[in-house]
Amino acid sequence: MDQARETNFYYASTPRPAPQPPLSGEQVFDVCIVGGGISGLSAALHLAERGMRVALLEAQHLGYGGSGRSGGQSIFGYACEMSTLEKGVGATDARRLWDVAVEGMRLQRELITRHSIDCDYTPGHMIVGLKRRHDESLRAELDTLATRYDYHSLRLIGREELRGIIASERYTSALYDSNGGHLHPYRYTLGLGRAAAAAGAKIFEDSWVTRLEVAQHPGADNLAHTAHGTVRARHLLIAGGALLGRLVPSLARKLIDIGTYVAATQPLGEERARALITNNAAAADMNWILDYFRRSSDHRLLFGGRVTYSGIDPFDSGRILRARMAKVFPQLTEARIEYAWGGYLDITLNRAPHFGRLGPNGYFVQGLSGHGMVISGMAGRLASEVIGGTAERFDVFARIPHRDFPGGTYFRRPMLVLAMLWFRLLDVL
Ligand SMILES: Cc1cc2nc3c(=O)[nH]c(=O)nc-3n(C[C@H](O)[C@H](O)[C@H](O)COP(=O)(O)OP(=O)(O)OC[C@H]3O[C@@H](n4cnc5c(N)ncnc54)[C@H](O)[C@@H]3O)c2cc1C
Repeated sequence: MDQARETNFYYASTPRPAPQPPLSGEQVFDVCIVGGGISGLSAALHLAERGMRVALLEAQHLGYGGSGRSGGQSIFGYACEMSTLEKGVGATDARRLWDVAVEGMRLQRELITRHSIDCDYTPGHMIVGLKRRHDESLRAELDTLATRYDYHSLRLIGREELRGIIASERYTSALYDSNGGHLHPYRYTLGLGRAAAAAGAKIFEDSWVTRLEVAQHPGADNLAHTAHGTVRARHLLIAGGALLGRLVPSLARKLIDIGTYVAATQPLGEERARALITNNAAAADMNWILDYFRRSSDHRLLFGGRVTYSGIDPFDSGRILRARMAKVFPQLTEARIEYAWGGYLDITLNRAPHFGRLGPNGYFVQGLSGHGMVISGMAGRLASEVIGGTAERFDVFARIPHRDFPGGTYFRRPMLVLAMLWFRLLDVL
């Protein structure tokens, strides 16, 4: 995956932050957090606000993972259907999971306001359908969420009205959420980092955790080792997302890392950009291999989509995304792609979040499955609750059943490629 700062629009449009020093020597804290994305930073902020001594270890730099690469779309709910969660934990707990997701949307806006994070937060999100089957699903979704989950910020938009909002012939309906929105994910992540540091958390960058010693009884400390140091802490939180690799094999078995890509056009000028999406909401379509897009504050179109399952980069993601973008917006065929970048998603088999314990004081949050802009903030808040002694909400997540990806180390990827060919076929039917 291309890691160069120059190819990622978010990195390029943010003043380069001062790097934080790497960990050196043995240092003692109350909590050690592995991972400097939104999940880890939200936990660091909430825990530091509770007066705990917090160390956060980030392998590269803050926002190096999905949090600094994302499409930036803040969407209600989870990557999986609510029916998956109902099946897994029952209706009462599913409702509590839903309430956490809605609280996450509020939390995101509160954090932005409270910590004055300049991240272009813009309200409005649309899930857009491409065929009659999708239109029916969107209507059913609206009904279910209103009647069973008391979620009332959704509105169905029909084809004619939608044509006046998205300048494309492609879409047949949309589910508009005034409670959703979009933002500059890297600036949001860095803003959380600043807030966590101001609250007293110690952030170490360039500090790749290569080995963990997870305490197996409540009075023992956890140890996290990097190339040049060790953090000793009573509590441990793993929030490494898709980039955690095989550091904790039992966690790796629950995930597959899927590559996904975003491109940014050249600045189109205010008038031309406005005409593409007149309500300035973000949009994501309903295909399995979905397209998602939104306007940036400097009047580009940010267009995401495509996935790779093979773990191998496509030769030129910008060119591929450009071709997809031209299908949605043929009027942009001539527009130059100025940035194209990718990142990895941490996908679970049922696409539900995977939270739990590794030891009596060792916790993990992962598996946000490409739907983490909102839930990651709550992952951090819930981790701070369980570490602070209140396990109730964290444990609702910990009860969601998860299975290992089938196929073991060698066959899981070829099996996934086959499965995704099937989903691609469903998209064209
Ligand atoms: C291209 C792309 C587009 C996306 N678009 C959207 C979207 O529009 N809407 C949405 O809701 N979600 C989207 N997502 C998903 C979303 O970005 C993630 O779910 C979310 O950012 C996860 O946050 P996180 O903090 O859990 O993980 P990350 O942001 O991935 O952070 C994990 C961090 O842990 C670090 N780390 C890993 N292992 C170690 C180690 N051993 N030692 C130290 N540090 C370590 C990594 O370097 C990384 O910085 C997208 C993701 C990608 C990649």
